[in-house]
Amino acid sequence: MAACIFCKIIKGEIPCFKLFESDKTLAFLDINPLSKGHALVIPKFHGATLTDIPDEHLSELLPVAKKLATATGAVNFNILQNNGRIAHQIVDHVHFHMIPKPNEQEGLGISWPQKETDMEALKALFEEIKPKV
Ligand code: 5GP
Ligand code: ZN
Repeated sequence: MAACIFCKIIKGEIPCFKLFESDKTLAFLDINPLSKGHALVIPKFHGATLTDIPDEHLSELLPVAKKLATATGAVNFNILQNNGRIAHQIVDHVHFHMIPKPNEQEGLGISWPQKETDMEALKALFEEIKPKV
């Protein structure tokens, strides 16, 4: 997609610190890292959200994220993939973040607003979703 910043990186029109490349996948350092070693893995197939990407273009992304985690030596790290503005997605080309978490201050901060379980509601939700999976 012409205007997409990550498609421009794939085409070499914008530079990046490239860590991995294959016919379907690219990985490079994030330009504004949350921590040292913060890197991105992207499919070369353009799509805004995970559901826009064909399965064959997804299969290498987690193995490459694993390579990045290993290469940085991160012991604690988060793999993050945002979909949509209110889910904190800024760049509309699917990407997985590999974010080392060296200490409490650096890396990804997470709010985890859990609610108490209503087993009846959980069961109803299960019955709604299960047939569609
Ligand atoms: P999002 O919030 O969409 O999940 O994250 C987008 C990420 O892309 C951000 O962490 C941001 O720093 C990174 N990013 C945006 N533009 C560029 C760029 O031109 N080069 C690189 N290397 N990273 C970028
Ligand atoms: Zn793109």
